[in-house]
Amino acid sequence: MQIRILHNECCGHGECNLIAPDVFTLDVRNRCMVLDPEADTPEKVREAAEACPCAAIVLMNDDGDEIYP
Ligand code: SF4
Repeated sequence: MQIRILHNECCGHGECNLIAPDVFTLDVRNRCMVLDPEADTPEKVREAAEACPCAAIVLMNDDGDEIYP
C-alpha cells in the first residue's frame, strides 16, 4: 500500500497518529508525515484514513491505483 498526504488539507488533528502511530506521525508544525506505510495492517491504515476529519489521506495499492477515498 502507498499513502499520500494532502498537506494542504491536513489540519493537524492527529487522529491518524492515534489509530496507527507506527505509520503516521506529526512533525513540529503538526503536519502529518508517513513513517512507514507497511508498519501496520492495511485495515488499520484504512481505519486511520477514514477517521481523518480533513479527508487528507489518500490510499493507493502497490500498482498506484487509488483505493481510498
Ligand atoms: S488525521 Fe488527517 S488532518 Fe489529522 S493529522 Fe492525520 S492527516 Fe492530518
